Amino acid sequence: MPLHIETPLVPSSPLSREGLEVWLKLEALQPPGSFKIRGIGHACERHAQAGKRRFVSSSGGNAGLAVAYAGRRLGLPVTVVVPETTSARARALIEAEGAELRVHGAAWHEANALALSLVDETTAFLHPFDDPLLWEGHASLIDEALRQGARFDAVVLSVGGGGLLAGVVEGLKRNGLSTPVFAVETHGAASLARSVEAGQRVELSEIATVATSLAARQVCEQAFELTKRHDIRPVLVSDRAALQACERFLDDHRLLVEPACGAALAALEVADLTAFRSVLVVVCGGAVATIDTIRAASAALAPAA
Ligand SMILES: *Cc1c(COP(=O)(O)O)cnc(C)c1O
Repeated sequence: MPLHIETPLVPSSPLSREGLEVWLKLEALQPPGSFKIRGIGHACERHAQAGKRRFVSSSGGNAGLAVAYAGRRLGLPVTVVVPETTSARARALIEAEGAELRVHGAAWHEANALALSLVDETTAFLHPFDDPLLWEGHASLIDEALRQGARFDAVVLSVGGGGLLAGVVEGLKRNGLSTPVFAVETHGAASLARSVEAGQRVELSEIATVATSLAARQVCEQAFELTKRHDIRPVLVSDRAALQACERFLDDHRLLVEPACGAALAALEVADLTAFRSVLVVVCGGAVATIDTIRAASAALAPAA
């Protein structure tokens, strides 16, 4: 039994339009709140089989939450080291999964350094996106959608560090598909789009977005390399559009998702989908936002010009 669940594949009337059928893969329903458990659950199981007795993560977001959940399910202790900037809600969610939470440093790299120093022969460190085991696990999302009868001629998903993208492309490939993938980021976290433009992997000097789960300054090498071998089309959306998409999705489908996921939903309005009749949207989810944080973020944005 894998640690992730099989999620529903549902057609969306509210998001579909004349000439475009929209299918949703509801990863928001994974027990720890996002698709991350597919890859992290798979990696943790492999590590446990290889004799690891403890897991360490430095993610104060959905990756840390997935590691905490996986450890609890496998009966192995987990330590998550987060910086002081991590929200009270994220801390509480990680602790509620029974993980040891250590708060260290003003910024993520300090927490990450401490997490790495805890790694020893029997402890596995789980990276949030740059790990072939993660991609292999995320790929199950495509196997499953196909088994459920999904027929789609494009995929829409969000990109942070590019682990989800790498996994979905792996899933398409292992099913013999070369389906185009729309890779969505917010303007303030456009690490993939900027790299594709520059023709080389670039590191952003700063990140400014409400979509905190997309806040990777650089995508993993694998995600960038795949843009040369697979039809991957970067799409950028505004923070405002991502937040509005969250509110609309709550009304339409009764599910709350993070702005990181709202970005993929908002891309349906922005991306050029005229060549496609049916798209699969990965509703990646996210447990860290609440309706109050989403509305507060909307209110804090400058009024539309
Ligand atoms: C991690 C995450 C992403 C981005 O995934 P990457 O593998 O880093 O590209 C998007 N949405 C949510 C909710 C996430 O937790």
